[in-house]
Amino acid sequence: MPKEGFEDIDYIIQGQKGIFGDECAGLCGDSAMTAFSQAPRTTTAQGVIYDIRCENGDSMIKYLVEWPEFVALKAGISPHFPFQGATDWGFNQEEQSWFPNLRCTRCGWPFRLMISPNEVEGNLRSAVSKGQLPEPQYQQLLQHCMAARQRMGR
Ligand SMILES: [Zn+2]
Repeated sequence: MPKEGFEDIDYIIQGQKGIFGDECAGLCGDSAMTAFSQAPRTTTAQGVIYDIRCENGDSMIKYLVEWPEFVALKAGISPHFPFQGATDWGFNQEEQSWFPNLRCTRCGWPFRLMISPNEVEGNLRSAVSKGQLPEPQYQQLLQHCMAARQRMGR
């Protein structure tokens, strides 16, 4: 698995700016600090693997978010609409972030992973520039997701 380069660090910092920037002024406190999961991540050819913990704290899982899922999030819809069998994601208005609807199989509490639109954007830009997600494929996926979004009347 490729190790993260400086490029990744750049967008992580960008992502944090989004969280602590003007738009969330009212939320920036301890809750905003914990809102950004800052889950350890590994970039692979398929997507980004996040190490996430359930809210009860008893379980850790490695969760792969695949490039097409990021493209759906960029298009503003949950990946399960354009891609059959994909995880259902929701958007948390308060934290202005996407989260996968995943529950711990041990205790049933949700796994905590929040991905801001900035991070979605940064991951995709990095994937395209590294050739992990070739530009033509990216454009094709984006069109597919935008069409799905239109069908939903959004
Ligand atoms: Zn648990």
